[in-house]
Amino acid sequence: MASHIVGYPRMGPKRELKFALESFWDGKSSAEDLKKVAADLRSSIWKQMADAGIKYIPSNTFSYYDQVLDATATLGAVPPRYGWTGGEIGFDTYFSMARGNASVPAMEMTKWFDTNYHFIVPELGPEVKFSYASHKAVEEYKEAKALGVETVPVLIGPVSYLLLSKPAKGVDKNFVLLSLLNKILPIYKEVVSDLKAAGASWIQFDEPTLVMDLGSDKLKAFSDAYSELESTLSGLNVLVETYFADIPDEAYKTLTALKGVTAYGFDLVRGTKTFDLIKGGFPKGKFLFAGVVDGRNIWANDLATSVNILEELAGIVGKDNLVVSTSCSLLHTAVDLVNETKLDNEIKSWLAFAAQKLVEVNALAKALAGNKDTAFFAANAAAHASRKSSPRVTNEAVQKAAAALKGSDHRRATNVSTRLDAQQKKLNLPILPTTTIGSFPQTVELRRVRREYKANKISEDEYVKAIKEEINKVVKLQEELDIDVLVHGEPERNDMVEYFGEQLSGFAFTVNGWVQSYGSRCVKPPIIYGDVSRPKPMTVFWSTTAQSMTSRPMKGMLTGPVTILNWSFVRVDQPRFETCYQIALAIKDEVEDLEKAGINVIQIDEAALREGLPLRKSEQAFYLDWAVHSFRITNVGVQDTTQIHTHMCYSNFNDIIQSIIDMDADVITIENSRSDEKLLSVFREGVKYGAGIGPGVYDIHSPRIPSTEEIADRINKMLAVLEKNVLWVNPDCGLKTRKYTEVNPALKNMVAAAKLLRKEL
Ligand code: GLN
Ligand code: ZN
Repeated sequence: MASHIVGYPRMGPKRELKFALESFWDGKSSAEDLKKVAADLRSSIWKQMADAGIKYIPSNTFSYYDQVLDATATLGAVPPRYGWTGGEIGFDTYFSMARGNASVPAMEMTKWFDTNYHFIVPELGPEVKFSYASHKAVEEYKEAKALGVETVPVLIGPVSYLLLSKPAKGVDKNFVLLSLLNKILPIYKEVVSDLKAAGASWIQFDEPTLVMDLGSDKLKAFSDAYSELESTLSGLNVLVETYFADIPDEAYKTLTALKGVTAYGFDLVRGTKTFDLIKGGFPKGKFLFAGVVDGRNIWANDLATSVNILEELAGIVGKDNLVVSTSCSLLHTAVDLVNETKLDNEIKSWLAFAAQKLVEVNALAKALAGNKDTAFFAANAAAHASRKSSPRVTNEAVQKAAAALKGSDHRRATNVSTRLDAQQKKLNLPILPTTTIGSFPQTVELRRVRREYKANKISEDEYVKAIKEEINKVVKLQEELDIDVLVHGEPERNDMVEYFGEQLSGFAFTVNGWVQSYGSRCVKPPIIYGDVSRPKPMTVFWSTTAQSMTSRPMKGMLTGPVTILNWSFVRVDQPRFETCYQIALAIKDEVEDLEKAGINVIQIDEAALREGLPLRKSEQAFYLDWAVHSFRITNVGVQDTTQIHTHMCYSNFNDIIQSIIDMDADVITIENSRSDEKLLSVFREGVKYGAGIGPGVYDIHSPRIPSTEEIADRINKMLAVLEKNVLWVNPDCGLKTRKYTEVNPALKNMVAAAKLLRKEL
């Protein structure tokens, strides 16, 4: 029985790589300094895995920015605008592709499957001349070997690489990316030959796209690719690794018939049906890498249950051919529990970060080999028992209330047009009403105030005074700008999820539980460990304070249940929807308290609703159903005259438009600034959206200040498709990352554009 790790976080236990990268980018340290930090991180990770007893240790899972960009560098697929002229790709070209430079913007970034990690999308076309332009894979293999650690080099598989690419600018949108297979395979052969020559005996190809709903043409590309590679791969053990979901039947057949491949890796945490496929037949003599330790969460594995699963699998494939593994790369979990100084011991005993997961994988492998570490297993069982019975986890009243929601529907009693009429009577807004999404610029001073309050360096009175002053400044500014529906600016919030999590029961926070989001950027998701409830109002004080400063409507500002869920580490001892319903009930209480306190417009942000959409189509309807239901629960109890807004951070919702309509919000503001066309096409195709809608009229992600004409032009485009009495005018997201010198003129032009058009309507 052997053990394997699919991949490991690169940032380091205290984000060492982040700081080294940012210092290098700022010109404060040299390339050599950066390389040294990176090499130290790699060596400590390899040693840690070796010490933990892991047999198959991955290499080439380190990256200075992104593993897909590394593959692009290996293939020499540098878009021409970066001016690369050949030779080994260095930091200049590499980081220009990742982040852009003074004259050229970065390559596009997009979400890695349904994770919060973002990869750099390869831009390909018939003209691309591929060449072996980065020897990183073989260099890292040799580097580990020199340290006395034998590793399994990991490459992104050729078919997944192409399926994750997009046609470059100027290339026909319908260009078949898979037609490039015969051009990239020669490079893959060179890489494999190099690795072989360096002494590698195993190699891992990550082909996660195999879990998607792929048609037969795409599946055939896998068969073709590995047949072509077969002779080069001969003499090596070859693992094809899949993760993030069940593997569909057809894909399973294709995978297990691939030429030259000797081992298959499966995510058995998310892929519960894959188990049945394996039971139904597994090729003789091949290896099964069983991903039973969750790479996407922070909970300690249930070792006893895993042993049972592994025993059953061993019965099918034979003990010698079974390898215990993680469900996916540990990139998607936090790094090391050792650095958590603020979590209490009880909660800590329930958790396992990447470093602890290594130990779990090895303990499982040893147990299967008849060498069970009984003390370790006993401690694990005790931790699981304590979590089940802990009063901190269970709140019976909440459980009951959430259970009562299942099966029933929750919807406001009247339809949206009736409600909009009632609201208009109360709010008396002009046509094309203007508003913003919530946050105003977060100045250094503001961050200092929050930090010092948290650290007890300033008193509550001083803190409240400072925040009130800030709110007052933001309110006055909006009045001067003549914005119609105001916001308080969210100066008291560090993060839109953390702020609520800190005030709800059932949440815990880490100090170093960082997960890479993209490049040097990391997020620190809260941990939802118990039943969620709201001990007391969370935003009422600030919203009413803000409302008291103006006679214009002040929007109450909340984060929605689905977004809180999707941006947290969620408990796995109950279905996700149950946790979501619990959060929904807590937000519902807050909405009703805001209404009672005289707040007539309440925005419930669902920035991350789309993010939770399952990868497989067959599972999407169920998710959308409970997600949308959760949102409706939050505001089912308000009067017709209370206007409910929601906000979403993307515009490509064409495929989930029905769910957006089902949310039954009165007004939705959405990000739109990068593609009017895509969004508007939905409505052009006849989708009826009776609610108010505010497609962002300018991009807040850029420092650029849009002119009045430009904004008016965009509003006009929208008016061609949408009715004038439903259209709102707003930026496309919160303003917290911008400076006042950008926000003031941009909003001024936005209001001017709205006024200009009102005259014409
Ligand atoms: N209300 C939040 C803000 O303005 C929304 C942020 C978001 O959509 N990501 O900051
Ligand atoms: Zn947004």
